[in-house]
Amino acid sequence: MRIRKLFRFEAAHVVRGCSSRRCRENIHGHSYVVEVLIDSGTLDRGFMVMDFALLEGVRAIVDRFDHSYSLWRGEDEEMKAFVYKYNRRVVEMPVSPSAEGYALLFFFLFDEALRETVFRNGEGDVRLYSVRVHETETGYAEAFREDLRLVDFGREDVRFSRAIIEEE
Ligand SMILES: [Zn+2]
Repeated sequence: MRIRKLFRFEAAHVVRGCSSRRCRENIHGHSYVVEVLIDSGTLDRGFMVMDFALLEGVRAIVDRFDHSYSLWRGEDEEMKAFVYKYNRRVVEMPVSPSAEGYALLFFFLFDEALRETVFRNGEGDVRLYSVRVHETETGYAEAFREDLRLVDFGREDVRFSRAIIEEE
């Protein structure tokens, strides 16, 4: 059985190297919608795959990106210095902040959070199925586990600025 929970965040970025000049040459923002799809073959004692309340770790990760600048680590040093000088909330990402990049990064981070969640209500084989990131009302990117082969990064490659950490 599958459940889905939706989260939202606001963030700014530039997507270097993409086809659209507006996107690759201008700092701009989106109101992101993130869908988290979770599977299990069995139900807990409440007849749930898992209680959404247990997604607190996922919610906390999304909140770190809210009202932040998503800085691709491949940006040139001058741009990085500018972003850090004029923004307090900066997430430095090992992938470009395209919807696809976010979906892959979130899959990785949410999967970790889910594996660290302590289930005490008879939950079964709860597992992350996919993560969808909607950048606009008309389009989204969806990452599945096997898509992680497209990228190569670890938890230490995602850097949250001091202001983000201190606001938690
Ligand atoms: Zn954009």
